[in-house]
Amino acid sequence: MASPLDTVRRHRSFASQLKRSAEVIVVGAGLSGLNAAHELQQAGISCLVLDAHDGLGGRLRNGACGAWIDDVHQPRAWNLVRSLGIEMMEEKLAAGKSVVQGAGSYEHGSVPNFSEDDRRSYTRVRDNLEGLSQRVDLNNPTLWLPNFGSMNVRELVVSQGATPVIQKLADAWTANLFGLAARDVPALYFLLVCKTAGGFLNAIGQPALPSRRLRFRAGAPAFCNALAGRLTPGSVILSQAVQWIDQTSSNKVVLTTLAGEVFQCSRVVLAVPTASYRNIDFSPALSDHKQWMQEFDQPGFHAEVVLAYEKPWWREQGLNGFAQSLDGPVWETRDSSCDADGLYSLTCVLAGEAGRRLWDMSEGKRRETLLAHISDLFSEYNPFPNPMEIIWSGFEPDNWIRHVPCPALPTCYMRDLAQDQWAIEDKLHFVGSETSHVWRGQIEGSLASGSRGAEEVLSVLRPVADELMVPRL
Ligand SMILES: Cc1cc2nc3c(=O)[nH]c(=O)nc-3n(C[C@H](O)[C@H](O)[C@H](O)COP(=O)(O)OP(=O)(O)OC[C@H]3O[C@@H](n4cnc5c(N)ncnc54)[C@H](O)[C@@H]3O)c2cc1C
Repeated sequence: MASPLDTVRRHRSFASQLKRSAEVIVVGAGLSGLNAAHELQQAGISCLVLDAHDGLGGRLRNGACGAWIDDVHQPRAWNLVRSLGIEMMEEKLAAGKSVVQGAGSYEHGSVPNFSEDDRRSYTRVRDNLEGLSQRVDLNNPTLWLPNFGSMNVRELVVSQGATPVIQKLADAWTANLFGLAARDVPALYFLLVCKTAGGFLNAIGQPALPSRRLRFRAGAPAFCNALAGRLTPGSVILSQAVQWIDQTSSNKVVLTTLAGEVFQCSRVVLAVPTASYRNIDFSPALSDHKQWMQEFDQPGFHAEVVLAYEKPWWREQGLNGFAQSLDGPVWETRDSSCDADGLYSLTCVLAGEAGRRLWDMSEGKRRETLLAHISDLFSEYNPFPNPMEIIWSGFEPDNWIRHVPCPALPTCYMRDLAQDQWAIEDKLHFVGSETSHVWRGQIEGSLASGSRGAEEVLSVLRPVADELMVPRL
């Protein structure tokens, strides 16, 4: 029987007359790929973007409907949003109290109303995780392998004095970031991802410095569409899943897609989730320390559901809409209303195994279980009104998009952190939010990685002459 690669090769010979060329081909029209393409075209490089789907935007297309950015800690995202003229809405956390399941309401940013023991444990664990995350060396994360290399996040928080309640809170942190329970996330990787966000508090969305948390008024896809609108018309080619990237045949790179089309370029920017590398044949094979990306199917589940209401009933109760659960399946709710449009909503994060179980239920059961859980979360504020509408973000995970903000690198691969995992391989550059050294797994990280990829390519294709280099002071 012919292997998939044989089929692709046959297609290639049939389709050789269809070959299209550009200096650079970006694989993946998510935010990282679009940003890389935009910066390359700005610098005068001809560039095409291929995406497997029939729409652009990747994870922001429909999975992350309530996505937010922070105007102080995420400068790339904030500057781009402003330059594209995208309208944002602010989440007003200070306007009311937050809720933690079983502990009632508390002033946002202060310690939740746990028991005395749990409050002490919360403060200690929070401060210690902030300190530890700050001390991770991004250039040399394996320095801490002897301390945390074989530990998971559950064990990490226990080692810092977490009571059973605070251990459950750790599940909420990891569910939000990785779509996994704390016991399934390696401690060192968790600390590393927190460090990329500027520390643990930033990573869990409770930054120490005052900032605004902003959502896209017309939804996150509008952001991707606006960025794509800055590209040369015709640059984005959809429904082209790249199946083979061949760097062996000439001094050009040849890309063959599932549809049998062939593209050729001098450089490739790979802007697909690491979990999707397994769908691509690389000739030559990726180096050893990148093999893990093709070897395992990353676990984790993360989705959003919007509950639309006639009125913001939580505000009438003195709440800001932010509620945290200790067991899932809804780990977090947030006020995602657009007051200017008279639309009031709570966006719920469903994550981890509990989230996946709920997602897989029949529609009626799913609705019933979700509302029972939200009602329990806000039990002090019953009667809890029924929403007018429930909007499930409507994604089906597939080969091309994995719906977790940041996949967790398994413990057995922690030693690979010693390598520069995203180093260029011949003419192949690696970007995407999970390759970022800032805000890994977030919008800011995807933009930063796209810029890094564009810079790498520019330094090869348009090197700056030595005499033009401005000496650093
Ligand atoms: C539910 C959810 C909520 C989130 N909420 C937030 C939030 O509030 N704030 C925040 O900052 N971030 C959030 N994120 C994270 C954010 O959405 C991502 O970090 C960002 O969108 C990733 O962009 P990317 O370009 O790296 O990858 P992606 O968006 O995954 O884009 C990759 C693209 O590659 C394409 N592709 C894959 N394989 C191939 C192939 N073989 N050939 C061609 N194309 C291919 C895919 O179709 C896809 O379009 C959330 C993520 C999820 C899932």
